[in-house]
This record gives sequence, structure tokens and C-alpha cells, in this order.
Amino acid sequence: MAINKLLLTFAICRLIVTVGLTVDPAELLRLGVDGQLSVDPSDVDIASLDFGLLNRAKPMAVLRPASAEDIALLVRAAYNSVGGFTVSARGHGHSINGQAQTSNGVVIEMSRRSGGNHQLGSANNNPAPPHVSVKDMHVDVWGGELWIDVLRSTLEYGLAPKSWTDYLYLSVGGTLSNAGISGQAFNHGPQISNVHELDVVTGKGEILTCSEEENSELFHAVLGGLGQFGIITRARISLEPAPHRVRWIRVLYSSFSSFTRDQEYLISLHGKPATQKFDYVEGFVIVDEGLINNWRSSFFSPRNPVKISSIGANGTGVLYCLEITKNYHQSTVDTIDQEVESLLKKLNFIPSSVFTTDLPYVDFLDRVHKAELKLRAKGLWDVPHPWLNLFVPKSRIADFDKGVFKGILGNKTSGPILIYPMNTDKWDQRSSVVTPVEEVFYLVAFLRSALDNGEETQTLEYLNNQNRQILRFCDDAGIKVKQYLPHYTTQEEWMDHFGDKWSQFYQNKMEFDPRRILATGQRIFTPSF
Ligand code: FAD
Repeated sequence: MAINKLLLTFAICRLIVTVGLTVDPAELLRLGVDGQLSVDPSDVDIASLDFGLLNRAKPMAVLRPASAEDIALLVRAAYNSVGGFTVSARGHGHSINGQAQTSNGVVIEMSRRSGGNHQLGSANNNPAPPHVSVKDMHVDVWGGELWIDVLRSTLEYGLAPKSWTDYLYLSVGGTLSNAGISGQAFNHGPQISNVHELDVVTGKGEILTCSEEENSELFHAVLGGLGQFGIITRARISLEPAPHRVRWIRVLYSSFSSFTRDQEYLISLHGKPATQKFDYVEGFVIVDEGLINNWRSSFFSPRNPVKISSIGANGTGVLYCLEITKNYHQSTVDTIDQEVESLLKKLNFIPSSVFTTDLPYVDFLDRVHKAELKLRAKGLWDVPHPWLNLFVPKSRIADFDKGVFKGILGNKTSGPILIYPMNTDKWDQRSSVVTPVEEVFYLVAFLRSALDNGEETQTLEYLNNQNRQILRFCDDAGIKVKQYLPHYTTQEEWMDHFGDKWSQFYQNKMEFDPRRILATGQRIFTPSF
């Protein structure tokens, strides 16, 4: 322990020299956190990377908090110090462009993990586990909780959150700082529309509870707020009875207009009774010649591969796959076939292209993790991911199809391309997130992996270049897209991104994080030291 303390003192001295922090090292040690303050190179290395593998920034130290109080102690020390230092919450490090990194401060590892070597505090001190209220149909969770663990704990009570992301190994605080979307968003809104209350540690180190009724400005600012106004330490998430099973269906289109017409029809049913709509509506674009499987799910059996050429892509080389699900309970097992059939009857897909599978609800929600394990086994998970996520207004989606899917992409995609529409009125415009100004907009997600395998079209440079081309095309064509999980490097670009919301965003920053010490990896504001 003596060596550990020595190492930590050394790192804190380095912090002082580097950023002019005037806190006495012993004082930082005496902050008295119940969690762990670590300078273990392996902890620092993990905190300096993310899923994108495009940026690296080494923090001076890593805090594993035991509670919101630990976080408040650290943020207060940063806020009150004369020199100042930055503090970045890291959920599960699944950002693409270093959004949870900082090079001149402390990273707070929000997710639960067992400890490294050079640390102080008790290794067993973890934040409170999820707490379910069956009566009020909500769950209170730690901000660093992974959604998979939220699901596991609510299922013990036969309940589950309503709105999801496709992948569950993401933290609650991380997705709520963006929006949190998947095929349920047309119906329930994004995850940020399904939160009742938050506890937040602001950039001044205060712990505030906020909701629609209490500290409502902070509540709306933090949701979709890219970590700029505070660190979410608790979220109260709305629940519903958990379905038992899922009927999962994919159908193909060669006509983009039929595909989007059907998607838009399906999301227009959101106000109907549960029996008259699907529970999940997504879709993806297939431009690669070959199988219509992709890494995000092993939907099609390897013994039953489906060749694009066997379906026919109408001469354009592009197919569109609508992906829909219907949840059901033991009590509705007798009517599920009929409900699905009557919904499918209204759609205009290629008749021979209906692929159906049926699985437990948890297996459906956790589908991308299975694909992750397969990719990891092949060494294809920890590779650079130059992902690009765009919200495209419905009125211009056909132009986007022509210019991008049938134009810029060519016939190699290097990863899945998702496309699905959402209803804008399910998004609370008081939140910080920005969406196109139309009743319906599409998510188009280019989820590509860069490989060093000698194929030019798979290199990082090629994919980055193509991303730039896509953005330029939208600009030139006047397609007013908004980036989801946005990444910009200048304040001018951020002002443009936020548009009318910028002045409120800026005002909130000055109020809740006036020294601009939080989440500097987003590169929106520069710290005031
Ligand atoms: P991090 O990357 O650790 O952090 C993201 C940002 O939030 C940082 O700025 C960080 O400082 C801040 N932050 C983290 N925790 C907190 C907190 N407690 N309080 C305040 N700020 C905080 N997104 C979707 O919406 N839908 C999807 O289907 C989806 N699928 C994905 C699949 C994969 C394989 C991957 C890698 C990402 C996916 N994402 C999806 C994107 C994901 O939502 C974002 O990466 C998000 O940032 C969550 O990741 P994280 O918890 O690791 O957060």
C-alpha cells in the first residue's frame, strides 16, 4: 500500500506540474473518496482509448467512485483549484472520437469493474445496485450501470425498460448523454424520453436531483447534453411488463420508395393498440454482393444463406431489408401469428423474401453481443471504427438514397448500414439533442470497421474519405442532416450543429459548468484555465 500511495502522489505531482494545479497532493489524497483513485498504467491505458480507436489521450489518474459523493468531491476539487483540471466521466468507452477522454485531468470510470494495483480506497466499494419499484413501474440505476445489467435486474420482477439501443453493453449515463435509440424509438421515443428523474453532479460539484418538476432546466439540459452540464449518477427509468418472446421478421425490397413508404406507414401506427402495430421497426441497406447477413445479428442460419442475386436488386445492385418484431406474452401466444400476418399483408415487399425467427425477449435485445463475441474471436472487434450516424429529414431521404447508397458507396460497405425512421413528436424538444425540423426523420448509420488487409476500400483513410464525401454531398445538395453522436472540432461547427438551440446550450454551460471542466473530449468548450 505504501508503494501505491507513493505512485499516486507522484502522479498527482505530475498533474500539478502539467496543469498548474494548486491543490496540495496530500489534499487530493485526503479528499477521502470511498472508491479508488488509480494511476495503474493499465487503468490509465484503458481510459485513454475508446471503441473508435481513432484517438488516444492519457489521463493523469482514474477515479472509480463508490458513490455520487466521491464524484462530487473530485469535481469540487477541480472547480475550486486555482489552476484547475478537467474531469471526464467514462461510461463504457464506446464513443468513436475520444468523447470520454481527457489528457489533462481525471477520468471517472463509471462502470463497475474489479480494481487494478496502484490504488487507494476499498476495492469492494461499488455504487448501489439497481432498485426496482414494481408499484411505480420504474428502476433507479447508477449512471455507470450497463443496460444489460439494468435488464437483468428488472427481469427479476418481470419488468423491462421500454426503449433500447441495439447493443446493451453501453452505460446508462453514456446513452442518456446522447439519446439512446433503436427500433422502439418510433413508439416510445428515445431512451431520454423514458426517464423520470436524475441525480447529477454539476461542474461546480453540487449533487442535484432533477426532473420535469424539480431543477427542470438541468434535467432537460443533461438529456442529450453530451456530458456538458453534469455527471449523471442516478437515473429513474420507466418500465413495462417484459414480453416473453419475440417474433423477428425480415423482408426485402428492391424499390427504395416502397421500402420507405412501408417503414413510414409502420411508424405511423404508434398510437394504435399494441395488437395493431409492430414493437420495433428498423432496416438496413445491402449494397455488397453476397449474403444478406451482417455482423449485427446472426439472423439467417449459415445452412440457409440468402444470396442477393437470388432475390434480384432491380438492376441497381442495392436491396433494402425491413426488420420488424412483435413481442408477445404467454397469454397472447395464440394470436401472434394472426397479428403478424395481418400487419404483413399491408406491406409491399418482394413476396418470396420473408424470413422469420422466434426467440426469447432477452436474446433479441442482446443480439449484437453475440455478434461481438464472434468478431472478437476473429480479432475483428478491436479495430478502428470510423462510424458516421446521421439524422436525415424524411423529405430528402430519396435524394440521400440516390446520392449515397446508389452513388458514393460503390459496392463495398465494410459494415452494416442501418436506416429507420422515427417520429419527431416522441422527442422532447426541451432536451439538448438536435433533430431535423420535420415530423419524421431517419437514422442512417454507417457502422464500418477499418481493416488492414490489403483491400483499399477497407482502409481507414478510404472510409474517412467516404464519410467526408457523404457530408459534403448533403451540404451541396442542401440536405439538412444532423449528426447523431456528433463529432466536430471547432466551436463554429458546434454552433451550426445546435442551430437555434446553441444560445440555450451555451447559457446552460455557463450556469452548470462555468469553468468548462467536464467532458472536454467532446471538444465543444475550452476549459477556463
Ligand atoms: P462513453 O463513450 O463512455 O461516453 C460518451 C459521452 O458521455 C462522453 O462525453 C462521456 O464523458 C459522457 N458520459 C459518460 N457517462 C456519463 C454520465 N454518467 N454522465 C454524464 N456524461 C457521461 N447508440 C444508440 O443510440 N443506439 C444504438 O443502437 C447504439 N449501438 C451501439 C453499438 C455499439 C457496438 C457501439 C460501440 C455504440 C453504440 N451506440 C448506440 C452508441 C452509444 O450510445 C454511445 O457510444 C454512447 O456514448 C454510449 O457509450 P458509453 O456508455 O460507452 O459512453
